[in-house]
Amino acid sequence: MVLLRFAPSPTGALHLGGLRTALYNYLYARKLGGKWILRIEDTDATRTVPGAVDGIREALEWAGLEYDSGPGKHGPHAPYFQSERLDLYHSYSNKLLESGHAYRCFCSPDTLATTRERLARMGSNSTYDKACLNLTDEEVARRVRAGEKSVIRMNDSALPSRSSPSDLIFGNLRDAHASLPTDPVLLKSDLFPTYHLASVVDDHEMGITHVLRGEEWLPSLPLHLDLYASLSLTPPQFAHLPLLLNLDGSKMSKRKGDVQVMDYKRRGWEPAAILNWLALAGWGRSHTTEAISSSKQAPDSTTVMSLQEMIQEFDLSSVTHRRSVLDPQKLEYINKHHLMRTMSTNDGTSVLADRVRALVKKSFPHSPFTTVQYIEDVILVIQGRMVNLNDLPVLASYFFIEPDYTTAEALTMRNRLPDELYVAVVRDLRDQLLIGDLVWRPAELANLLHREYQRLNLKQKMYMTILRHAFTGSKTGPSLAEIIWALGRDRSIARLETAQR
Ligand code: GLU
Repeated sequence: MVLLRFAPSPTGALHLGGLRTALYNYLYARKLGGKWILRIEDTDATRTVPGAVDGIREALEWAGLEYDSGPGKHGPHAPYFQSERLDLYHSYSNKLLESGHAYRCFCSPDTLATTRERLARMGSNSTYDKACLNLTDEEVARRVRAGEKSVIRMNDSALPSRSSPSDLIFGNLRDAHASLPTDPVLLKSDLFPTYHLASVVDDHEMGITHVLRGEEWLPSLPLHLDLYASLSLTPPQFAHLPLLLNLDGSKMSKRKGDVQVMDYKRRGWEPAAILNWLALAGWGRSHTTEAISSSKQAPDSTTVMSLQEMIQEFDLSSVTHRRSVLDPQKLEYINKHHLMRTMSTNDGTSVLADRVRALVKKSFPHSPFTTVQYIEDVILVIQGRMVNLNDLPVLASYFFIEPDYTTAEALTMRNRLPDELYVAVVRDLRDQLLIGDLVWRPAELANLLHREYQRLNLKQKMYMTILRHAFTGSKTGPSLAEIIWALGRDRSIARLETAQR
């Protein structure tokens, strides 16, 4: 069985890159009938941000990526916080000391800095001169007993033959060892492990079969493989996921804003659309924006995918090693289609209505028309126009409050419509609605409108423009019959009365 892990450090909110890593772990595990773990890599207390773990869990939950074990979810490999597994790292570093694959180093930061400068002056690529490698056992024991601070370093000369690492996405990495630091630290003087030791120990102890992680860890791969070899352990398989880029080719980073997963939630995006967007970005099946906007056909059903469909389609061999651009326009396209999919399911529209209700109430605090049922009707009417659920209050304000006839758009429209005709049309429809024997359905209302412009001997366009102005104050919008249907009889009559004044 495959076993994967998503191993964030709790240094802040989960961002899009992290979510993409979690998603790929999830997809691979589910595709192969395996499991995945959430492991918190919190061994650097100086970088740990309080509340970050809760934030990460909340974001994963929002996205619908349920892990099989991890914080809050017991499993065979608990604890899932590295800070609670220190004994394990100590026992592994002791093993490495005993076998000569690691050694204690007592050099102070000042000594190390001087050494680095000296090595650089000599044109050496090394970062450390291995000065402590040759201390005798007695000397080491004496200095430890005396309470002198030390770290444990890997002994890279204990591994004479190092094979070139291989990655499932990046392939064989040649000369990968060249850029490694000399004898990197494995255990710090505060007895906390460095990322390298903790990650290797945990991946082994937890029985991880595949490590899917960000490209930024690719340079550490040879070091990790050295550690497995030093411990005589079989490494898992590695797949590094290419960096995500902004549209302008710059690197997406936490510092640039706009990358936190929960910001996307706040801005109304569908979680399934975010996952879909992230999955396609590195998948090798991604469509360019031009392809989408110029496509005359119905939306490409292979592009818009539910999580279930992504599991079915997922194939690590089609993940590209090229850096992937996250195109916001593509998210809009995908989101719109996810919204439409949701609306086509049982209760889907009411779930959306429920979700957007707080925003509607906030946008129109004095509107008495904010029941879930009514918002559902409004969603049904404007559905094809909505890219994002949060668009609803903007696109559909005239359903919740009276239209604003004083905007530039409304005034321009009104000025082009002959006064007498305007009043006649509006009055006529009001009278028709007052008759009251009409079946209140969009189709019947559409028939009524059709009948009336013919009876009044008017062009359809003129007739509809007058009514659109009266009902909405805007030039464009969904079908008038549907607008009238959603507003209801009394409000429609009242609105026509206001408009003719
Ligand atoms: N703790 C690392 C990070 O947040 C993850 C490295 C890994 O997956 O091995 O970025």
